[in-house]
Amino acid sequence: MTEVLRPRIGVNKDTQFFWDGLKQGKLLIQHCKSCDRLQHPPGPCCKHCQSFELDAVESSGRGVIDSYVRMHHPLPPPFKKGHPIGLIKLEEGTRLVAELINIQPAQIAVGTAVKVVITPCDKDVTLAFFEPV
Ligand code: ZN
Repeated sequence: MTEVLRPRIGVNKDTQFFWDGLKQGKLLIQHCKSCDRLQHPPGPCCKHCQSFELDAVESSGRGVIDSYVRMHHPLPPPFKKGHPIGLIKLEEGTRLVAELINIQPAQIAVGTAVKVVITPCDKDVTLAFFEPV
């Protein structure tokens, strides 16, 4: 039987560092060297000052659920009904979308403290999941 893989990640020159960081166990945030601000999702230039002088800083991986959805339809494999997806506000101030794990439906609420769990899903994909602290 063929293994059902997760959807493939979208990698380009602007996001390559983010996915490479996850493979090294690091959650990275794009940083502007000109104005010292952070941004996510990554882009080709700073959204604040339009500088191209960008690097990355490592996140603590701690944050809170800023919003969430529980996906019921459509359900592409390998996801199950009620699949929880969070909009996580990191303590550094940027937000990212990630799957919530090790959490009961009743625990999922705006403001719930969470931490990152970086997990290889298959040979090509390593993702950042978040679980309650
Ligand atoms: Zn900037």
